[in-house]
Parts: sequence; structure tokens; C-alpha cells
Amino acid sequence: MEEHSATGTIMTALAGGVGLLALMTLIYGTVLHRLGDRPWLRQLCLGLLFGAGGVTAMLQSVPILPGINLDVKTVPVVLAAPFGGPLAAILAAGLVSAARAAVGGAGVMPGVVGILMAGAAGLLVWWLVPVPGWRTARPLFVLAPVAALHSLSIFVLPWEVAFPIFVNGGLPIALFTVGGILMLGTMLGRECRRVDTEKMLRDAALSDPLTGLANRRAFFAAIDRTVAGALRHDTPVSLLMLDIDHFKEVNDTRGHDAGDVVLVALSRLLQRSVRQSDLVARFGGEEFAILLPNAPVDGAALLAERLRCAVRDLAIPQDGAILHVTVSIGVSTLTPDIDRADVMIKAADMALYQAKQGGRDRVCRHREAGVKEPVPVS
Ligand code: GH3
Ligand code: MG
Ligand code: MG
Repeated sequence: MEEHSATGTIMTALAGGVGLLALMTLIYGTVLHRLGDRPWLRQLCLGLLFGAGGVTAMLQSVPILPGINLDVKTVPVVLAAPFGGPLAAILAAGLVSAARAAVGGAGVMPGVVGILMAGAAGLLVWWLVPVPGWRTARPLFVLAPVAALHSLSIFVLPWEVAFPIFVNGGLPIALFTVGGILMLGTMLGRECRRVDTEKMLRDAALSDPLTGLANRRAFFAAIDRTVAGALRHDTPVSLLMLDIDHFKEVNDTRGHDAGDVVLVALSRLLQRSVRQSDLVARFGGEEFAILLPNAPVDGAALLAERLRCAVRDLAIPQDGAILHVTVSIGVSTLTPDIDRADVMIKAADMALYQAKQGGRDRVCRHREAGVKEPVPVS
């Protein structure tokens, strides 16, 4: 009868532990997704998550012997380093240790030492296994038994007290820890892979594979957002449409690969010549769009002129030769007449056409209201 109820309490603890691990996995995926490019804040949040996971596990602990509780509090502490980073590991171990110290009791010393040993085991194995390794479950089979050694912390108590407790309680704790690490570690590894894949697909959907610039799809999303924001806050937005002059000749005389080299070199030049808040996109084959939030038309035209000169001066080495190209640029800006993204694109396109008609290697602004022809600025 007694054995049956002990099994029951262990099963209850296990069920509670599994629920907790599932919840942690859910939050983990969200943090990775939201804070993927803010490593310090991500580590901080994950440290809090793993720490809170450990503390919550303590609330679900089941006494199996006087002074010995069975729970999975060390599992998040162990996994904090490989899945959160060293700062997360230190934070999690600190939080769980503090909570264990606050609970007090006879087992406080071995409890805190065990938590710190578990954290150290996580850090050690994380340090030994390179990051991509944690995307698979393999390192967990090393980490789990190493971390289970934290149950030896009971031996900080006098031998005659510690030994019987270890024999009766140490094994279930070690098994719980191993099982918990394998389970939570596998779920977190899968979550990492899912977030990686999602990011890869998102990047691929929004960027141009040759130049790495934003593609047409990303550009349309950005211009819609930017124009809506500018109309709301009454701020300027300008747009440059830029097209390489006689690009077909580069392909015809030097080959398609040389054409690609030119496209890449030009993309780099454009990207490094604009502000961080500007968006350079590959709009089509050899046509680029540059979205300039907060830029009035005069500033945009000046930038366009600066870009035109920079491209003309650009020497592109290719197969032992030096290639040169020029560009034509059309400029448009948000006005009471041009008050939508598609109209603004059309206006820049018309100005670009005018620049081509005017002889190429030049910048044209879209005509202002009442003015018949686009106004060349060069
Ligand atoms: P214009 O001065 O009137 O703009 O003349 P152009 O020769 O630049 O324009 P046209 O539209 O006649 O030719 C564009 C060329 O760009 C044709 C196409 O093969 C080439 N092109 C488009 N995309 C790529 C690409 O990804 N790589 C290479 N190498 N060429 C490309
Ligand atoms: Mg062209
Ligand atoms: Mg073209």
C-alpha cells in the first residue's frame, strides 16, 4: 500500500514536471524568436526563464525521505548554459540557489551545492561542445549523466547521515535529472531548429540571393509601412529608382558572370552610401529602389547625385579587367498629389525614364504639381 502511494506521488511529480518543461519550451521559442538579434537581452530573459523554471519545479517537489525532496529544479539550471548562454546559466543557478536557501531546512547545504554543481556541469559541457552540436540530442547523453553527479552533493553532510540518504534518495534524484535533461534538452533543441528554419525561410523570402539586398517583396512591404507612417506623422519620404545604363552591353561583351559581379559591386556601394534607416532593394534585374524615410526631396536629389558620381568613379575588377558603369536615377517624394506608395513608385519610374531619355548618367526629379516636365538636377 505504502509503495503504491510512493509511486503515485512520484508519478504526480513527474506529470507536474512534464507540464512545466512544456511551458518552458513554449516561452523559450518565443524569446528566441523575439530577441534573436539582441544577444544580451536574450541571455537575460533566458536566465530568468530557466531560473523561474527551477524555482517553480521546487514548488512541485515531493518529499521522498525526511529532508530529501524529489523535483526537477536542477534540470533548467543544467540546460541554461547550452540553450541560453553563460550569463543565463549564472543567473539561473543564482536564482534557484537563492530560492533553495530561502526554503531552508536540513538539506539546504547539499541543496545549494547540488544546484551550483549542476550549473557548473552545464557550463563545462556547453564549453566543450560547439554551438551547432546542441541542435541535435547527442550532447545531452553526455550532459545528463555528468549533471546527475550533482546528487553526490549530499556528501557535504556527515558520512553516516549522507550515505543512507544517498542510497535511498540519490538514485531517484539522479534518474529524474537524467530523464528531465533528455526531455527538456530535446524539446529545446527542436525549438532552436524550428526558430533557425523559420528565420532562414523568412530571410530567403525577403532577400535577393545574388546581392543580399532586400527583394521586391520586402521593398513593397517597407514602402507601404513607411508611407503610412509618414502620412500619420506628416514627415517626408523620398524614393530613388536607379537603373544601370546599357547593362546589356556588359553581359553581351563580358559575359553574364561579369554582369553579376557588377550587380554585386554596385549593391555594396549603394548599401554603404546610405543611412541605416534607408532601404536599398533590388527592384528588378539591374534596377534598384532606395527608400529614404525622413528625406525631403532636396536631400534625396543630393544623395542621388552623390550616388551617381560614386558609381561613375567605381572601378570594378573582373577577370583582370576593370569595368565601369553609369546609372540613371529618378527621384520622387511624398506630396499632396503623390500620396500613395504605388503613385510614388510610378513617379520615380517616370523620372527615371526621363533621365534615360535625357542621355543617361543623370538624375531627374519627378515634376512637382503644375510643372510639366521632370526637372533634371544634373
Ligand atoms: P538602359 O540603359 O536603357 O537601361 O539599357 P540596359 O541595357 O541596361 O537595359 P535592358 O533592359 O535592355 O537590359 C537589361 C539587362 O539586364 C538584360 C538582362 O539580361 C540583364 N540582367 C537582368 N538581371 C540580371 C542578372 O541577375 N545578372 C546579369 N548578369 N544580368 C542581368
Ligand atoms: Mg538598364
Ligand atoms: Mg532596366
